[in-house]
Amino acid sequence: MKLSEEIKAYYNEHRPLGAMPKSCYAPFKNLYFGSDGRVTACCFNRSYELGSFPKNTIREIWNGEKIKTLKEKLSEADFSLGCSGCYQQIVAKNIDGTKAKQYDENPLNSNNYPSVMEFELSNLCNLECIMCNGDYSSLIREKREKRPPLINPYTDEFVKQLEEFIPHLHMVKFYGGEPFLVDIYYKIWEKIIEIKPSIIISIQTNATILNQKVKRLLEKGNFHIGISIDSLKKEKYESIRINAKFERVIENILWFKEYTQKRNTFFGISACAMTNNWEELPAFVRFSNALNAQVYFHNLIYPSRLSLMNEDENQLKEVIDVLTTFSFEAKTPIEIKNLNHFNDYILQLKSYFKEIEYRVLIYTAEDFLSYYTIKIQADNALNENEKNDLISIFTEKINYVDSKINNKEILKEKLSNLDHKNNMIYDMIKKYFKELSNEEVFDLMMARI
Ligand code: SF4
Repeated sequence: MKLSEEIKAYYNEHRPLGAMPKSCYAPFKNLYFGSDGRVTACCFNRSYELGSFPKNTIREIWNGEKIKTLKEKLSEADFSLGCSGCYQQIVAKNIDGTKAKQYDENPLNSNNYPSVMEFELSNLCNLECIMCNGDYSSLIREKREKRPPLINPYTDEFVKQLEEFIPHLHMVKFYGGEPFLVDIYYKIWEKIIEIKPSIIISIQTNATILNQKVKRLLEKGNFHIGISIDSLKKEKYESIRINAKFERVIENILWFKEYTQKRNTFFGISACAMTNNWEELPAFVRFSNALNAQVYFHNLIYPSRLSLMNEDENQLKEVIDVLTTFSFEAKTPIEIKNLNHFNDYILQLKSYFKEIEYRVLIYTAEDFLSYYTIKIQADNALNENEKNDLISIFTEKINYVDSKINNKEILKEKLSNLDHKNNMIYDMIKKYFKELSNEEVFDLMMARI
């Protein structure tokens, strides 16, 4: 999964600082901590694990062999170690949406400490958004999926270990769940404010929680705010972000805008671009321009039924045709950025359109196994033993699901959602199939796909 010279040149030309020697600086600058204790180079790369807390200390993970290997790969424009999402976006020329380029502008510390850390330490959330799942929302896990709560590995020991790293950090990012509900985040924020208050603290929030405790905290640090919102229409918004109240969220967004404007810190609006809200993408650009906020469209892969990537030829053509008719004012730096982001997102959709002819239709357990056996055999990240293990894991799990679903039309519906050649789906099912029992895989397929 290496970039061709032509694509590499296009990518380099469109990076914020121009051409750079490494295709991605995430493993050179960043660590991402997932809610199950797993540590990776970024929140996009969930399958190439660098280590796991508390089994490994933060220092061990940052200085470990796995991160060195990832550095080597990305120095050679090789995206095969869990970086297929970025690879796919770069090939689609959706450079503005690419996670990898986000690390270009962060400093590279000469003392070999990370300059960025990303935290997704808990799935505690007050919402049950239709495109989300129980790994990111405790309520969905409990109510929709009926899975046991996640066991949270992050204790005060984690905060203690961070003390060594904080003096070298330039930026920290907090995701959820809903970050303003997560207790350990308050401990980390207080620690950062005590040790190095100039650090950029970036928070991605659903904007439903804005109480006195939050406001008092925000007064103390260098907070930058990103808002997640998927519709600007009350009814649609509340049908997507279950439990949220539209008016309250808009009120809070305006408060956050004032807050960031006064402090001259970043303010962003991000939306998941989906089959049920794509018509609103131009409205998001205008809304963001009006608030002087940077817009970001998430490239939704799961659940498949909401992913634009899985639209059929006619639907996808309509989406592209409609979106390309829009034009926007682009005079201020934010307006120019937002226009660029919108145009790059259309390139992403066009690349999905080009891929339609390569889609593989999977209707039976046998189709699934032969398709993924070929994929596993071609997976450079695995050695021969790992390939054989993975093939037997896939075979066992899929045969189990097959045996439990008597109605083969339902099986076809579940499996046909896994038919796209996009490697992110492969990476995700590889991860879940390895970790979960047969019954858990069955439940997950029923609950989520
Ligand atoms: S290439 Fe993308 S997925 Fe891989 S480490 Fe960099 S940002 Fe993460």
